Amino acid sequence: DKDRIRTKDKSDHATIENVLDSRIKNKLHKLFERGVLAEINGCISTGKEANVYYARSKNEDEIAIKIYRTSILTFRNREKYIRGEYRFDHVHSLHNPRKMVKIWAEKEFSNLKRLEQGGVRAPRPHLCGGHMLLMEFLGSDGWAAPKLKDAVLTDSKSRTLYRECIEIMWKMYNKCRLVHADLSEYNMLYHDGSIVVIDVSQAVDRDHCNAMEFLRNDCSNVTAFFKKHNVGVMPLQALFDFITDPTVNENNMDEYLDMWMQEADQEKDPQQREIEEAVFKQAYIPQRLTQVINVERDINLAKSGKDLIYKTLIGLKADLSKPAETPEILANKHKADG
Ligand code: ADP
Ligand code: MG
Repeated sequence: DKDRIRTKDKSDHATIENVLDSRIKNKLHKLFERGVLAEINGCISTGKEANVYYARSKNEDEIAIKIYRTSILTFRNREKYIRGEYRFDHVHSLHNPRKMVKIWAEKEFSNLKRLEQGGVRAPRPHLCGGHMLLMEFLGSDGWAAPKLKDAVLTDSKSRTLYRECIEIMWKMYNKCRLVHADLSEYNMLYHDGSIVVIDVSQAVDRDHCNAMEFLRNDCSNVTAFFKKHNVGVMPLQALFDFITDPTVNENNMDEYLDMWMQEADQEKDPQQREIEEAVFKQAYIPQRLTQVINVERDINLAKSGKDLIYKTLIGLKADLSKPAETPEILANKHKADG
């Protein structure tokens, strides 16, 4: 008996790189029968967690098929992206790899839908079944669009894309209520001169208990990338505030960002900025007032002029006196303008 189990295990592992097991082959077979797929024409990417294949439908639509790995090794880190948000409250079987990877595919599908509904450019999702996801292929003549990290960019194009990127982050948070949680030059494609967001299986609802940490990390990745491309970027905390400030909206966003870009161009002491960023990366960020550890202490600190990291996020004025109606940077400007 022992032997039999082992043999079975072995043949499981022998499936092509743990990706194309018999269930997936059956699923693909059905899609061929229905004409959803007419041909699969090679592999776009083999990653740690998934392979992506290029396919065409019967009516010549180009499709990307993402097939997730079912190997247990890659699950260790996934639980924290699923636990802690209401969409997955019903999920109990995180230790069954096959079920787990199915949830992972469904999560990516549902996140892609949210991006579509919120007007963020991302592959349009077609369908998901088992641990496989079919979506719009981004590229031209069968060539996949390059990752942002591989795109050849002039300094001026980089500046435009930085602004586009932070507006995408704002939209994801405010229109789609999502935090990407793995946003970097590796998970954005450069397509038709614009940024397209991909790889959202780990993206979480903005109410997820770790959403603020994930967002801070995304801000940090994006900032580092564009800095490398000589863009005068916003300070890290300013970017985080821009995304989470409930008083920023589509009407005042342009003015808000113009102000920051001007400031960024006259960058102050870079050493000072590095210190501020290091402090911000370590800070505890509560999502709601009820999570603030010592409200009274913080109010006293704020009154004495200390900057509180979370004030913008929860929509309060700098002195915590009352709800803010205008972004602080604009309120100050309007005051100065008279
Ligand atoms: P992972 O990083 O988990 O392996 P991704 O979703 O990032 O999975 O996909 C891996 C790579 O496949 C991407 O970097 C990109 O080059 C390519 N790719 C993914 N989705 C598409 C798509 N819809 N169109 C074109 N290329 C894609
Ligand atoms: Mg990726």
